[in-house]
Amino acid sequence: MTARLVTGIGELTTWDAERPVLADAAFVVEDGRVAWVGPASEAPDADDREDVGGAAVTPGFVDSHTHLVFAGDRAAEFEARMAGAPYRAGGIRTTVAATRAASDDELDAGVRRHLAEMHRQGTTTVEIKSGYGLTVHDEARALRIARRHTDETTYLGAHVVPSGTGTAEYVDLVTGPMLDACAPHARWVDVFCEDGAFDADAARAVLRAGIAAGLAPRVHANQLGHGPGVQVACEVGAASADHCTYLTDDDVEALASTGTVAGLLPGVEFSSRHPYPDARRLLDAGVTVALATDCNPGSSYTSSMPFCIALGVRELRLTPREALWSATAGGAASLRRDDVGHLRVGARADYAVLDAPSAVHLAYRPGVPLVRQTVVGGERSSA
Ligand SMILES: [Zn+2]
Repeated sequence: MTARLVTGIGELTTWDAERPVLADAAFVVEDGRVAWVGPASEAPDADDREDVGGAAVTPGFVDSHTHLVFAGDRAAEFEARMAGAPYRAGGIRTTVAATRAASDDELDAGVRRHLAEMHRQGTTTVEIKSGYGLTVHDEARALRIARRHTDETTYLGAHVVPSGTGTAEYVDLVTGPMLDACAPHARWVDVFCEDGAFDADAARAVLRAGIAAGLAPRVHANQLGHGPGVQVACEVGAASADHCTYLTDDDVEALASTGTVAGLLPGVEFSSRHPYPDARRLLDAGVTVALATDCNPGSSYTSSMPFCIALGVRELRLTPREALWSATAGGAASLRRDDVGHLRVGARADYAVLDAPSAVHLAYRPGVPLVRQTVVGGERSSA
């Protein structure tokens, strides 16, 4: 394969330890990887050359938390919530009914449509959860469809207890036949540990069964109130505890000492008018923070990582650089990936070219479509 020199970069974010951000930079892509990075004036010759005309280039965004396999939307519920109705975990059941009724082709088309939106906005790695099937057949089907599009698939049979089923009976299903059917299509196991969903004991049972089946754990934790989710996540060695909106000092300490990533999903607070998590408090305690969309039709129907970066800066008290780090390297840490989320030599050549001289513009110009080009594995073809 030929080498391509990308040059004329006004500002290049690499997350290299010594020079995380370079001005007047260039890099070489070879075999889908970054083969050289440095000042444009020192760039080697290459077979192919592309000048981006002073644009900022960032690592592609790593969206470590989405629920893309669904049908229907819940615009009416959002409208009611904005008029004062409360958010409840049980709204998930509306999407479950629509998802079960949809054909494989309809679900797959929905995933493709949302992934294309994400690609246009600079996202290059996406995690996708099941969780709107809640039967053996429908959960396995969701994961089979998700697996066509990403390796980062998460079994979330324990999203909510379906209507007409007891919790103990459902946990037996999730940790038994449903797990057997889903594990071949999943990398991760997840549980919604919250009042109205699964308590600490049920969450532990789900995660331990998943681990025994070869899946790695992650948890929906502390979204709607102070609960046991973060402690359970840290106890089982979860890669991430996502939401982290309501944290005690003990929760923050557990995240810092175990290295479990705090996944912050500010689209949820935006879409529910709930208080935002405090990223500053987490960073000051040494916790690794990831930003993700939580793209789903109920509580956060955005596919935009730039929007989450802007919220991260405005509402979570991150600096623009910290927000970008959390949306790239932080997301990679959440997925335990070292090949994405940065542009050091050896990284997969996943990057976004911005119509801006600096990545600060992602937060400085919220709502503006600044991503000019998204490149995955060195391939410039558009979605
Ligand atoms: Zn979620």
